[in-house]
Amino acid sequence: MPIAYVALGSNLDNPAQQLQAACDAMATEAGIHIIAGSSVVRSAAVGPGPQPDYLNAVVAIDTSLPAETLLDRLQAMEQARGRERSVRWGPRTLDLDLLLYGDRQICSSRLQVPHPAMAQRHFVLYPLAELCPSDLVLPSGETLAALLSRCPADGLEDSGITLEYHLQH
Ligand code: ATP
Ligand code: CA
Ligand code: CA
Repeated sequence: MPIAYVALGSNLDNPAQQLQAACDAMATEAGIHIIAGSSVVRSAAVGPGPQPDYLNAVVAIDTSLPAETLLDRLQAMEQARGRERSVRWGPRTLDLDLLLYGDRQICSSRLQVPHPAMAQRHFVLYPLAELCPSDLVLPSGETLAALLSRCPADGLEDSGITLEYHLQH
């Protein structure tokens, strides 16, 4: 089964609870097994208008689901948390992005893997680096260490919040 990495983010309606609810939902979803989870980081929102800070984390999963099916399941979990998509990059209860799916490169109308913006996002790269070796080679041929070296952690804080990841391996 491929190992995939999913980024969790929230800045509305009790973000810590939203992230926990996402972990609970993933742990009970057939075909998804959580094998590791990162710490929870806090950072200022990047997006239109003033917005509350974000909490973000990354989980590593073993999955028997094809990538597009996994995206369907993740989007259903977002919907279950009342996700609204009225403003691009607006505040959200729950955002679940598929970062990596094994060593696959996917470019369809609704799914791009690796996630196209991950290299520019400290709130994704630093939690991800807690879960996989920095010599991990991405489908682009670059190492995670190379991405980290170009993405300063300025403004990224440890939230001190811990999630129950329901680890299954
Ligand atoms: P960003 O993608 O810049 O983080 P966002 O998370 O706010 O922005 P969404 O509104 O959550 O964007 O998603 C828009 C669309 O992105 C989704 O409907 C989905 O089809 C598509 N998408 C493409 N690649 C991915 C991916 N790797 N993970 C999640 N969604 C993806
Ligand atoms: Ca996102
Ligand atoms: Ca998203």
